[in-house]
Amino acid sequence: MTKEELIKEIRTVKDFPLEGILFYDITTLFKSAEALECLGDILYEMYKDKGITKVVGIESRGFIMGPILATRLGAGFVTIRKPGKLPAETIEESYKKEYGTDIIQMHKDALTEDDVVLVHDDLLATGGTMKAAIKLVNQLKPKQTMVNFIIELKKLEGRKGFPKDLEIDTVLSL
Ligand code: AMP
Repeated sequence: MTKEELIKEIRTVKDFPLEGILFYDITTLFKSAEALECLGDILYEMYKDKGITKVVGIESRGFIMGPILATRLGAGFVTIRKPGKLPAETIEESYKKEYGTDIIQMHKDALTEDDVVLVHDDLLATGGTMKAAIKLVNQLKPKQTMVNFIIELKKLEGRKGFPKDLEIDTVLSL
């Protein structure tokens, strides 16, 4: 499948979850066996030579392709979760959303200083969630951190404000 064909598999829903938001629903892409396999292949080709030892997925839509990619790369998979979900000792970061503040957490022993980390989420909008995730991951001082999204919403300029030397790659630009 081409990238244009993959984009066609994404359903858009107007005014969800709030009025004025065009929501990109990737469940329709995952539903297609062909599209799912193709996305896995593209991600594998992007990261097969990067020496990644851990893929970190952000709750919850980072939990779909994250483990699929980790398996293909022979890497482990780590979760970043909303507060109160992880059972052992955690580290956390808080970040500002349009309305109020959000917190994300990760287990303190999830990464080591020897890890080469790829942080994955489904979609880059403002970038607020991923910026907090990078800070969280970097608290544990891995050897290297990279970022991946399936979809980037170019108009929102979410890439702005990330550290300049951070490798950020996306599969589909919309
Ligand atoms: P942000 O922190 O603004 O980059 O938002 C990223 C998170 O919100 C991702 O985990 C997405 O799943 C979700 N998100 C934000 N905007 C949209 C959108 N228009 N369509 C689908 N998901 C979105």
